[in-house]
Amino acid sequence: MALRHYSLLTIRSSFYTASMSKRIAGPEIERLIQLLAKVPGLGPRSARRAALHLIKKKEQLLAPLAAAMGEAVDKVRVCSTCGNVDTSDPCMICTDPRRDPTTIIVVEDVSDLWALERAGAMNARFHVLGGTLSPLDGVGPDQLTIKQLVTRIAEGGVSEVILAVNATVEGQTTAHYLTDQLSGFDVKITRLAHGVPVGGELDYLDEGTLSAALKSRTVF
Ligand code: ZN
Repeated sequence: MALRHYSLLTIRSSFYTASMSKRIAGPEIERLIQLLAKVPGLGPRSARRAALHLIKKKEQLLAPLAAAMGEAVDKVRVCSTCGNVDTSDPCMICTDPRRDPTTIIVVEDVSDLWALERAGAMNARFHVLGGTLSPLDGVGPDQLTIKQLVTRIAEGGVSEVILAVNATVEGQTTAHYLTDQLSGFDVKITRLAHGVPVGGELDYLDEGTLSAALKSRTVF
């Protein structure tokens, strides 16, 4: 019985390997699929679907996408001031005169900057750390843009630093480290409120979130 089971598994796995290694298109299309599969949110199956869609819409989609990607490769820069990505250095946010230069929102990643900009709640400047402190993964202060942030604050003109890091252990560790690094400057350090999400029902929240919401309650 055990042997039969083993054989079945062997046959299955060899079939799987054979079907995986079997090419379904020329090397150019295979390469397109392989690269698309590396995009976050796309697995091999979605990558094949996306590649086929692009190929079918060659003129309307594939060619403009290739041109846009080519331009992005040529022009995308990392802002030497804030760590944002843009086609100019300093980036559009750093050079926008309508933004409040006295407030800097510190985020872990550019995706967080984009998320906060979508919310449109503040018209401040940003600082992208490039991750969070994580000694186990070999990420120390030197791997992040912490020195650049300290330099920005030391240059003066900033009155508030908002730590908009994730509510994870690494995010909070990073927030504590930053608070320590900026303690010598005359700058107010704030962090995002933790608590009940807009439209959230208390019964569905975890104890940690409820406890944080109670502790950071505000006057109604
Ligand atoms: Zn910038």
